[in-house]
Amino acid sequence: METMSQPDLRPDCSRCDALCCVLLAFDASDAFAFDKPACVACRHLAPDNACRIHASLPEQGFRGCTLFDCHGAGQRVTGQVFAGGSWRDDPALLPPIEAAFRVMRRLHEAVALLHQAASLPLSPEQQAARLSLLANLDAGRDWTEAALRDLELGPDLKAVPAFFAALRQTVKPPRR
Ligand code: SF4
Repeated sequence: METMSQPDLRPDCSRCDALCCVLLAFDASDAFAFDKPACVACRHLAPDNACRIHASLPEQGFRGCTLFDCHGAGQRVTGQVFAGGSWRDDPALLPPIEAAFRVMRRLHEAVALLHQAASLPLSPEQQAARLSLLANLDAGRDWTEAALRDLELGPDLKAVPAFFAALRQTVKPPRR
């Protein structure tokens, strides 16, 4: 049973300060129609944080935007870590918001993968290790910039890819 408090992993753009459309860089390719550097608002981003071309992203060369999933990290950094502070009012907030979003994305992706791993044919020891990783991450806690910095530098987040690397040696995915 996964009883510890867990974050909402569903993105809610209505509660996010358009972090993916500002913080992330992309290169002109078949997924993006032009280059955009990190920490610069996309030219298609409207002042109300809506995407002006949302209804026609693939047709306009932005298939990459339709594939991106922050796993709920965006609204959490906006509403919990930087509650009351927006890069729109204070551009100096962009670097610390970017740092927090970088770690929160890793955290939410790790939690999503660990939940998905529950459906794999794991041994009792592997299931215990999976639950232990989730407990150590304590992803449902109140996060601050300092706590996210500690998480990035500490062992708990780094242990997740190591767990999956070890699983790949022993677990065969279920036949479809
Ligand atoms: S095209 Fe729209 S969804 Fe994609 S980065 Fe720009 S504003 Fe965001």
